Amino acid sequence: MTPEGQDLLLRGGDALGLDLTPHLPAFAELLRLLLEGSARTNLTALKEEPDIVLKHFVDSLTCLQGGYLHGVQRVVDLGTGAGFPALPLAIVQPDLQLVPVDSTRKKIEFVSATAAALGLNNVNPVVGRAEELGQDPQHRQRYDRVVVRAVAALPILAELALPLLREHGLLVAQKGPISSEELNAGRRASGEVGGKVQVVDPFTLPILGDARTLIVIEKLKPTPAKYPRRPGVPNQQPLF
Ligand code: SAM
Repeated sequence: MTPEGQDLLLRGGDALGLDLTPHLPAFAELLRLLLEGSARTNLTALKEEPDIVLKHFVDSLTCLQGGYLHGVQRVVDLGTGAGFPALPLAIVQPDLQLVPVDSTRKKIEFVSATAAALGLNNVNPVVGRAEELGQDPQHRQRYDRVVVRAVAALPILAELALPLLREHGLLVAQKGPISSEELNAGRRASGEVGGKVQVVDPFTLPILGDARTLIVIEKLKPTPAKYPRRPGVPNQQPLF
């Protein structure tokens, strides 16, 4: 990573109250592997160092705001893609047991290989669709938290994520600006699958100032067995 990239990462971390100095070597290696992997296959749209540092690394770490990931263990990153937010979270918070999930095998192969190269023993990636894992006893109701970034609209996320959570587990969804229509639909969908929207926290991405929203949905009671519906149905026919 260039000195300019390191400076951006440290300043971004500072803005989030994180000293990333001890983690610079891990982030530098993650950047190198991401650029190398992206040259071979289509992993991420971002190809420039400053974009990757701010829009992947720092952006992923904004999920730590509010302390919703403190003092918990089992965390799914639903639709992790090339490993975001899972890999930055695993670097900075080694006490988290992260399960990055994606339906695309090549992305999970990249996440596995990268976690191994970085020596991240707290990352256990899974290839699969959320709709299937949510009906699989090995995964249903097994997790303390689900984190998610850039995967789907809130009503769809509620149906995909809540089945994976234990009671009083939290879905922590990091999104861009959210419309009142999407939020209202998300509130209704959350109720249908046993949850409640507890936090809607607008904030800006450090340095760039891009608008973001952290949404936290708490699971209050078991999700009805019919959810999640069959693969593809939550997207094609959102609950609300
Ligand atoms: N979270 C990453 C990030 O912020 O860079 C990746 C976002 S990418 C736009 C969405 C990812 O979610 C894709 O890799 C896709 O394969 C995955 N995905 C979408 N729907 C899914 C589902 N139902 N189950 C598992 N993965 C899913």
